[in-house]
Amino acid sequence: MRNFEKSHKLDHVCYDIRGPIMEEANRMIRNGEEVLKLNIGNPAYFGFKTPESLVRHMAENLPLTEGYSDSHGLMSAREAICGYCREKGIPNVGVDDIYTGNGVSELITLSMQGLLDNGDEVLVPTPDYPLWTASVTLAGGLAVHYVCDEESNWMPDLKDMESKVTSRTKAIVVINPNNPTGAVYPKEILEGIVAIARRHDLILFADEIYDRLVMDGLEHTALASLAPDLLTVSLNGLSKSHLMAGYRCGWMCLAGDKRRYKGYIEGINLLSSMRLCSNVPAQSLIAPALAERESTKEMLVPGGRVYEQRDCIYNMLRDIPGITVKKPEAAFYIFPKIDTKRFGIHDDELFALDLLKQEKILVTHGKGFHWIRPDHFRIVYLPAVAELTEACERMRHFFENYHQA
Ligand code: PLP
Repeated sequence: MRNFEKSHKLDHVCYDIRGPIMEEANRMIRNGEEVLKLNIGNPAYFGFKTPESLVRHMAENLPLTEGYSDSHGLMSAREAICGYCREKGIPNVGVDDIYTGNGVSELITLSMQGLLDNGDEVLVPTPDYPLWTASVTLAGGLAVHYVCDEESNWMPDLKDMESKVTSRTKAIVVINPNNPTGAVYPKEILEGIVAIARRHDLILFADEIYDRLVMDGLEHTALASLAPDLLTVSLNGLSKSHLMAGYRCGWMCLAGDKRRYKGYIEGINLLSSMRLCSNVPAQSLIAPALAERESTKEMLVPGGRVYEQRDCIYNMLRDIPGITVKKPEAAFYIFPKIDTKRFGIHDDELFALDLLKQEKILVTHGKGFHWIRPDHFRIVYLPAVAELTEACERMRHFFENYHQA
């Protein structure tokens, strides 16, 4: 278990949009300007509501959830998670293999702190959800980025992934469904990743927080279900699927063959008990939430809010000259490509800053997701159709005139 001495390394890790873009947005907001925020995956901010039945359940259970729980979490929550794992074919998960967390975020950091010694490497996607790179770095490790390829609908490039394995590589992180691309990986790609992990004896980390937010009739395959002979750490939670990001409710399961990882598991147990436990009122919602998934499904089919917003943003972006985009299949993110030659763009952060200043639209530039070229940005399509339409009209106007200095 390691080690906090390298936290200064985080200075060069992108975490969403710190720095000049956020400073400018805050300045504008303080001056009373209305900024259209397309940068945060926080459903409540855009008027999505936690299902009423869950709010009531939590309120009624508050008098019973006033104390600490077991550091792994409430037994009722862990039993429900075990049931969910069985449903998804995630093998060999008992109640002691589960850890609830204050969001998946806490568990990403905890799982890396327990794993890495200085200089250990972890394969992380680019583009990534930047907390993964930040957590690897904070734990003293090195995030080595494998490319997800836009030309093949943002699938992980397996050749690139395997070419980046070294004697220091400990693990592969897979974010599926993906933030920021919205891609859902088919079984064959996941089998390819498992084969690489098998060949090089690596642990798999499967961030599957969006697995209940898949559209177009696609099925999500849990990575762990394909790897009973390896250790897979699967992460999931209620922030997005049950529109309760502020409740801070996530979990992590150790699945598959754990026999060779006793030291790592001891480390995780220690770290887990050092934070005593995760928020107990929020944990009390895991069982009822996993039993009630209809409200999520309604958002994701034609006529549903997320589905219609996805179609709106996709169709309007495609119509902007100089912008191309793949249609997302899950979650609520889209990652359009900019024709950098046409607009003379060499710095994507500057592009996002200019868009903010000129059109009052806040997006995250691709480098915020450790993307390798200055030619992408992420839009969160949680705002209502009217707002997204307005945003796209302003972007069309912006790109009509934009040329980077
Ligand atoms: N993983 C991914 C891929 C995410 O996009 C997010 C949040 O946006 C998280 C994890 C963290 O979620 P939480 O800490 O709310 O459970």
